[in-house]
Amino acid sequence: VAFLSFALIDPLLVDETGDLLWVRGLVVLATLAVLAVSYLPSAARRPVVLAVAAGWVIGGGVIAVTLMTGGGESRYHEALLLTFMGLSLIIPWRPTTAALACGALSLAYGLVMWWAGATGPVGTWITNNGILWVAVAISVTATIWSRRLRTTEFIGRYQLALAHEELKELDRAKSRFFANISHELRTPLTLTLAPVEALLEDGGDPLSEGQRENLELAQRNALRLLRELDDLLELSRVENSSLRLRIEPVDLSELVVGLVEEVRPLAARKGIDVSHAEVLEASMSILADRLWVEKILLNVVSNAIKFSDVGQPVELSLAREEDRVAIEVADRGIGIPADQLEEIFQRFHQVVPSGTRRQGGTGIGLALALEVTRLHGGRIEARQRPGGGSVFRIELPERPPEGTPVERRLQRQSSDQERRADTEGLLEWQQALRHREDYRLLDLQDATERRLVKRNAGPGERRSVLVVDD
Ligand code: ADP
Repeated sequence: VAFLSFALIDPLLVDETGDLLWVRGLVVLATLAVLAVSYLPSAARRPVVLAVAAGWVIGGGVIAVTLMTGGGESRYHEALLLTFMGLSLIIPWRPTTAALACGALSLAYGLVMWWAGATGPVGTWITNNGILWVAVAISVTATIWSRRLRTTEFIGRYQLALAHEELKELDRAKSRFFANISHELRTPLTLTLAPVEALLEDGGDPLSEGQRENLELAQRNALRLLRELDDLLELSRVENSSLRLRIEPVDLSELVVGLVEEVRPLAARKGIDVSHAEVLEASMSILADRLWVEKILLNVVSNAIKFSDVGQPVELSLAREEDRVAIEVADRGIGIPADQLEEIFQRFHQVVPSGTRRQGGTGIGLALALEVTRLHGGRIEARQRPGGGSVFRIELPERPPEGTPVERRLQRQSSDQERRADTEGLLEWQQALRHREDYRLLDLQDATERRLVKRNAGPGERRSVLVVDD
């Protein structure tokens, strides 16, 4: 395009432009031919050769035009400088190739003018050639620099990609580790729970009060551990996309009312009144995984109780909005700082310094809730409640979107570990356990727990205990 557009300047410099136009036309055609060749599959592998060919076609054209317009005295040779610059800027070639390609053109200029006897006055001749060779040197230097820059950039990108891959592998290894360890710990744990339960339920051989308390303590703590392991396991399932939903019709207003009834007595232990808004539409049925919806709701409600002080109420409400249903859980507890309203949904994130550590927990519950509501095609978010406290909002669509991973019966036992557990007869027991109140409501029990263990101290065993708390 540049070569052709210089035809506009030709009339300013020479009287007769007809022949020049011919040369320009030929050069453009030859360049287009090189361009066409570059589309051949075999030629595409040699881009530098093609680029050098195009450069020589243009450079040759410049030399021809220079010769036709006065040789050494013509200013047209300056177009060679532009050619060198353009080539070095555009082509990622080696310094030696740059030296050869540009040097050959510079040499050709000198030889052609000399051969045609059109070198002009000596001073001009020397200056013209000198400037051309300096331009060759500059092109080569620029090539060296840009190559270095490209190499550094390439190495940087490569190392970044490598680090990224390593990080991903580390993350995968961590998920695998969590999954393996949860599986491995689950089995002995359930095997510990089973005999403890048998002892507690053995009607024939009554336990003393002390024995019962100790066994119940062991059972509670084993269940708590099982719960943490389950959450870790579910989280790694979400991470490697193997979590499947078991979709069924769920009446959310029934679920909320039932849940409130169920948690009320537990919350009362902390003097917290859990209630639901007066008007709950008759039916708020959606298609969802009942167990997961309940688990998410239980987590949010138990958080509300956990982070509220004695006597502060917790209120649930439910509303249908177009094709979605929104459940809100509002508390008047310690609240969540505005800058952490989103972060609390990240894995293991706990608000600091709200004293969360004092409250216990692992920071998994909300991360799981977020993933599973997303899997349902819904969303969950937290906001600050005017006047203190927080409001959690869970939105679920009437039905999960197309393509949601749904559980089929056979997939249930797909994993090796699970099959192994099943052969030991544990799987059924483990699944039954999940539905039981003392397991489902464990978070709530923890949230309302006063962390007080009764002991039967005999009359002579009394001790004074001094507790210093910050
Ligand atoms: P966990 O309760 O096990 O720490 P979660 O994922 O359920 O894990 O919660 C993450 C964090 O979000 C909590 O540790 C707490 O800091 C904050 N949080 C959650 N719910 C509330 C709430 N209702 N009020 C105040 N802070 C909350």
